[in-house]
Amino acid sequence: MRTARGGTMMTTEKLYETDGMLSRFSAHVLSCKPHESGYAVILDRTAFFPEGGGQSADTGTIGGARVLDVQIQNGEILHFTNAPVSGEVPCALDFDVRFRKMQNHLGEHLLCGAIHRLYGFDNVGFHLGADYMTFDIDGALTPEQIAEVEKEANRAVFEDVPVRCWYPKKDELSELDYRAKSEKLGAAGAVRIVEAAGFDRCACCAPHLDRTGRVGCIKITDAVKYKGGMRFHALCGSDALADYGKKQDTLGALSRLLSAKEDSITEAVEARLAELVRAKQTVGTYRRALVEARLAALSYTEGSICLFEPLLDTNGLRELAAGGARKVAGIFAAFSGTEETGYDFVCASERLPLGQVKEAISVALDARCGGSDKMLFGHTSAGEAAIRQFFDEFPRISTHG
Ligand SMILES: [Zn+2]
Repeated sequence: MRTARGGTMMTTEKLYETDGMLSRFSAHVLSCKPHESGYAVILDRTAFFPEGGGQSADTGTIGGARVLDVQIQNGEILHFTNAPVSGEVPCALDFDVRFRKMQNHLGEHLLCGAIHRLYGFDNVGFHLGADYMTFDIDGALTPEQIAEVEKEANRAVFEDVPVRCWYPKKDELSELDYRAKSEKLGAAGAVRIVEAAGFDRCACCAPHLDRTGRVGCIKITDAVKYKGGMRFHALCGSDALADYGKKQDTLGALSRLLSAKEDSITEAVEARLAELVRAKQTVGTYRRALVEARLAALSYTEGSICLFEPLLDTNGLRELAAGGARKVAGIFAAFSGTEETGYDFVCASERLPLGQVKEAISVALDARCGGSDKMLFGHTSAGEAAIRQFFDEFPRISTHG
């Protein structure tokens, strides 16, 4: 066969198409050429699946070289390695990684097959990441329908039926009912059929597990409206088990924190949230009383006033400064915090446009602050003594500075 570049195209037997469970094989190196920082290797046969159909390429070893990526370019399967190889070579896939991909891949077939069979929608997207799997369909399902789909897909797993992959002849293909008819897949555009007996039949080019039972289990973790249809997140087999472990850790930690049994965590959180609402109402009442008491104790001054109230949050500081601004000709400044953490502050003034002194305050107190002419909000790392001194001297600074 001639390539577009005028050379002879080297064809590779696709072992991954006939046996998805093949992890070790031997092959003959047809070509090995320097490529970027490594080598591009063509074998006479390969179990390495090249990137395609939403699934990343297999990795592993060819002879003593690491296979970093596998791509189909101009009809040739190129294995990108970190070292040169030649002759007859033993090859091995990183089969744990491949097996995890096949669990999620076949799980997606079973989910989409169930959706198609039960509700008539088609799969319009698939992506398998390092720790997640998503697929898209061209319609929307209710939560009850999604639960039914998950149950039906897992029934296919539990019944552990064989998975068959083959290229049907034209006559046979025209008689077959299968999903993903638009897919132009497989050798020379031929359609490769993947069938989980009794559950799903679709066109697909990827390697597959030999039985549905190897998927382990299928869990839909999220389903959201997406481009007029829905996007599903799902986890299968070892990914689902790892996710179960993480969720169990989280649940255990929450259970200990809330002193609640795992099956009553929701009620425990609801009770804590209700307590929090009541506590906030109580704090608000005391905050207003504190602010009113502080303001009542102040008499009007021509200078500025600076108050430290460690119990007040930003809302309290704002209420105090808003009332305090009526007690001064200069600036009323309210601070809350500690020498270690620094101080949050609110400055207010009714007579002095604060925009004009914002820069002076920022520089003198090493502070970040923003706001309006009426009120400034900020945080400073300056100590209490330096802050008090600044506001004691402030009228002189603003008048003569
Ligand atoms: Zn497939």
